[in-house]
Amino acid sequence: MSLSEKAAYIKGLMDGMELDTTKKEGKILAAIQDLLAEMAGTVETLEGDVDQVYEELDAIDEDMDDLEEAVFGEDEEDDEDDEEDLRDLYDYELTCPKCGTVTAVDEETLMNEEICCPECGAKFDIHFEDEEEAPQE
Ligand SMILES: [Zn+2]
Repeated sequence: MSLSEKAAYIKGLMDGMELDTTKKEGKILAAIQDLLAEMAGTVETLEGDVDQVYEELDAIDEDMDDLEEAVFGEDEEDDEDDEEDLRDLYDYELTCPKCGTVTAVDEETLMNEEICCPECGAKFDIHFEDEEEAPQE
């Protein structure tokens, strides 16, 4: 049963009860029934609209896929993977305090080795911010 059909069913029940809609209780029930019927109609219209929007979105999505493939080619995902691999390899970028050269290192190197600037040979004095900024209380 659709929402409208349910609302109509309730209206039928109320009609069968021969409610006196001039009295308080009857008035309230008639008003509620009226509201239900209107809401059922509105919701059904919205559901139809939403279905249509989804269908059109799906069509646009498929068009976009075709377009991306045509513009970027099929290698696009491979390129993204390569970039991510590079980022995985080097977790930290260190700037030399002496000459400003930026060196990229992975976490293991950072933790286990003394790191020197490849340009000027200055040693990096590495502080871990977590330890420095611990609460002093
Ligand atoms: Zn340096």
